Amino acid sequence: MEASLNAYRDEQPPLQAENFCRKHEKNSKLSGVKIDIEKLYEAVPQLVNVFKIKEKIGEGTFSSVYLATAQLQAGCEEKMALKHLIPTSHPLRIAAELQCLTIAGGQDNVMGVKYCFRKNDHVVIVMPYLEHESFLDVLNSLSFEEVREYMFNLFKALRRIHHFGIVHRDVKPSNFLYNRRLKEYALVDFGLAQGTPDTKIELLRVVQSESQQEGSAHHSVQRSVFGERNFNIHSSTYHESPTIKVIKQSKVMDVASRKLATKKIISTKAVNNGVARKAANSCTAILTCDCYATDRVCSVCLSRRQQVAPRAGTPGFRAPEVLTKCPTQTTAIDMWSAGIIFLSLLSGRYPFYKASDDLTALAQIMTIRGSRETTQAAKTFGKSILCTKEVPAQDLRTLCERLRGTNSSCAKSTSDVHTNSLYEPALAIDTDKKVEFAPQPPGEKIQHLKNCHEGNNGLEIKITEKATDLKGWDRVPDEAYDLLDKLLDLNPATRITAKEALLHHFFKDIRQ
Ligand code: ADP
Ligand code: MG
Repeated sequence: MEASLNAYRDEQPPLQAENFCRKHEKNSKLSGVKIDIEKLYEAVPQLVNVFKIKEKIGEGTFSSVYLATAQLQAGCEEKMALKHLIPTSHPLRIAAELQCLTIAGGQDNVMGVKYCFRKNDHVVIVMPYLEHESFLDVLNSLSFEEVREYMFNLFKALRRIHHFGIVHRDVKPSNFLYNRRLKEYALVDFGLAQGTPDTKIELLRVVQSESQQEGSAHHSVQRSVFGERNFNIHSSTYHESPTIKVIKQSKVMDVASRKLATKKIISTKAVNNGVARKAANSCTAILTCDCYATDRVCSVCLSRRQQVAPRAGTPGFRAPEVLTKCPTQTTAIDMWSAGIIFLSLLSGRYPFYKASDDLTALAQIMTIRGSRETTQAAKTFGKSILCTKEVPAQDLRTLCERLRGTNSSCAKSTSDVHTNSLYEPALAIDTDKKVEFAPQPPGEKIQHLKNCHEGNNGLEIKITEKATDLKGWDRVPDEAYDLLDKLLDLNPATRITAKEALLHHFFKDIRQ
């Protein structure tokens, strides 16, 4: 006893120091937020009389978002989200974001707007507040039915904005707010949106023509890729990544080959005919241009400038046509991103792809969809991809089940279900004494539980539902993977639209 007390005392200083550091960090963060709030009140004084700004709920490259309350005439308080755009944002860009919210928002899971305040170059967009979950926090506790509802509601939002000719360009979980308890959803953040040629959002047309004049500079702004780890990089289902190059017909798009995972590097500096030829020799595809009847890219093509095309968004969610800088991009790019979200939900892994550059992202796509398939699809939108290694396409069900640790074909005999680190430590036994179990296959858990129960000597044991409740993950229908396959169609021309997705058999019994 004495010894253990001493041991406890010995541990005190580091613990206290750690707590102190954490507290200090939290306090300085808090005071940082307080200062930001004060600064916002100063910058836009109109806010002072209307809103009580409570806390910062989001901070990105382009904005800070605050939770505030407004005193309504009726006497009650209403929660609002205040998005303060960085003062360097282009006025036209801000106006276009606002127009997307006012025209397309407020319906079908698309966030609406209440007010907008401006003083000088400071703009604050006031939106209804939707309390929401962190995607990563809920990912592995969602039931299959919740996932189905989530996707249905995402497609509803996408159908609406696509109907208005808005391409969101940054569809990802942090831009699709989800309140699990209330089953409420909202697509937010039109900061990177672009218009289709027939867009109903006039300002998107203006943004488009302005940016075409200015070149691609502000399109290529990259959004941060969250702080989460990409578990898939270490996944056993990953094939060695191929080294790839993308060539647009006769124009070299990006001559820099990158090292992917473990593979070969082709010098990024010395890309000349010789290197290109060497690369071509080591590859299954032939690296040529159409200029001369030779087996290589001519020096004129090698010296061409990079092609200008919209590239905004978050790398792991970018469609192949975005990654290869296809100049004509449509609403289909949002459907690809929705497919990546669905892939995360089905596999329980997030972020699914995390790449620092476009070619790495393309190579990661190939490891799931196949290198030959990707190369062939790219041809349809005028891109040639040179790939050093052939990787096969994977079966989506097998992949997701392996990653999630469920296997629906085996689920009928639960003892066959494989476990991995992601499988929930399924048993929770509520007793005075806390009993903890390491993750085990459900069959074993049930047996173990029976043993406990029989020999419990009056100890009351409450078994939670979790023991055998796989939350529908043992019965994922083929329709789910069929829809996923159609979302992750490498060819944007044949990729499923939001309207079609809502009519997909997967949602047959959900009210439209
Ligand atoms: P950014 O352009 O900086 O990414 P967003 O519009 O995506 O800005 O907002 C950033 C974050 O702020 C969102 O991920 C979300 O967590 C929060 N947020 C934005 N709008 C709302 C809202 N209306 N209600 C609640 N939270 C919101
Ligand atoms: Mg955002």
